[in-house]
Amino acid sequence: MAQPQEPQGNAPPLLAPEEHVLSTLEHDGSRRWLKPKLSKGGFWHKRRVVAYLLIALYALLPHLSIGGKPVMLLDVAQRRFTIGGYTFLPTDTLLLAIFMVGMLLTVFLATALVGRVWCGWACPHTVYMEYLFRPIERFFDGTVGKGGVPRKKPSGARKAAKYAIYFLISLHLSNTFLAYFVGAETLHGWIFSSPAEHPGGFAIVAVVAAGMMFHFSYFREQLCIIACPYGRLQSALLDDHSRIVAYDVTRGEPRGRKRKSLPVVEQPPVGDCVDCKLCVHTCPTGIDIREGLQMECVNCTQCMDACDAVMRKLGRAPGLIRYSSQAADAGKPSTLLRPRTLIYPAILLVLAGAFAFLLGTKADFDAVLLRGKGQPFTVLEGGDIRNVFGVKLTNRADEAQTLRVELGPDAPRGTQMQPLHVELEPGQMETATVLVVAPAAEFLRNRGQVEVTLRVTDEAGDHRDIEGEMLGPDTARRPTPEKDTAR
Ligand code: SF4
Ligand code: SF4
Repeated sequence: MAQPQEPQGNAPPLLAPEEHVLSTLEHDGSRRWLKPKLSKGGFWHKRRVVAYLLIALYALLPHLSIGGKPVMLLDVAQRRFTIGGYTFLPTDTLLLAIFMVGMLLTVFLATALVGRVWCGWACPHTVYMEYLFRPIERFFDGTVGKGGVPRKKPSGARKAAKYAIYFLISLHLSNTFLAYFVGAETLHGWIFSSPAEHPGGFAIVAVVAAGMMFHFSYFREQLCIIACPYGRLQSALLDDHSRIVAYDVTRGEPRGRKRKSLPVVEQPPVGDCVDCKLCVHTCPTGIDIREGLQMECVNCTQCMDACDAVMRKLGRAPGLIRYSSQAADAGKPSTLLRPRTLIYPAILLVLAGAFAFLLGTKADFDAVLLRGKGQPFTVLEGGDIRNVFGVKLTNRADEAQTLRVELGPDAPRGTQMQPLHVELEPGQMETATVLVVAPAAEFLRNRGQVEVTLRVTDEAGDHRDIEGEMLGPDTARRPTPEKDTAR
């Protein structure tokens, strides 16, 4: 039952919360600042290796290339995304969609199998917070090596030095972030030129650096607790057999210590948990894992390291808090084979096959036939019918090339078109206008429908035929002039 608190001044009495609301909120609603203690156990050491590798990878990735192409370049302005040395163009919507769905399903599958391993081991927030910003903070707070709340308040000079280093790191991170979108070379040029020459890039760096400062100095674990959608999806993505960080209730409870003042026969029964609360004090999201699976738990393993150290000191077996599953905790056998761990890989296999097929059959150019804007057809002197089409061409090759557009071999008798030559730079996309003329008799013979095929040929002699429908007097009322009837 909620108890009213003492009124302050003339203010009405406040109701005290009935239960714990958020691990980072005090009872009066103010922020509870977390200063987690450091538990340097086996998991912490392994995570540190992974974290430093990921930090190095993040910084190096924009500078690496495969076959002369960047490993990762997300050129939003040009709508070209290079991933793993392959460039996705705006015409690759299907490939990109398959790739994105594949990534999403991979996350689902990984979560079903190994739980929130991403949060604890690889999420940029965890990696940078726990292995870069937090160590710097502990150094300037005087708690290096052990964490926790500093014994005395750090001086103003120490605080200033800490934030200055935060700022330099944030600046480096925001520049690296920008390099993913403009490329390392462009960024290098921008760094050594006036911001007035690239105000957009400068603004992005300034905003991202400010965002990093805000996040790593102030927002911190709030990202996991109140902002990140992944934690909220946990209940849907995990099942009883997914791996979680769990406290062994059967072994640990009832928690407490043996009372030295009581003889052995009068000792109340106690489990292995001595209620030292180290697992709580080491938790970067401030929760007590002994209360069970919680959305705030990012599976960082710090409580496992802390509790293992306590157990070893007491001469007991480690693993009171350990990687487990809800099924294992309930004494049921764990299994890898469940509907979701079979269905996700099956869909992933189909997607991978479709992706490989589409990628393998991609020509060096894309061609799409579009209906031209304006009136659907023109009746020429002499009765022939003229249609306007747009041929959207994309050069997918790494070199410039000239594409030839002409009538296809199966064009109806008497159809004419002036062949076109279109020069395109690598990755360039252009829509060329073509005029196709067909005799009116063709429309009559074919009940007003005249199929036309255009052939696009590249410099290597490879060609693609693109089909469309010509409109004549009998068909003018059917499609709208803007409608794309090309296939
Ligand atoms: S660290 Fe272990 S022994 Fe200490 S309170 Fe947590 S679970 Fe209990
Ligand atoms: S409960 Fe343990 S694993 Fe979960 S976030 Fe806290 S310290 Fe990390």
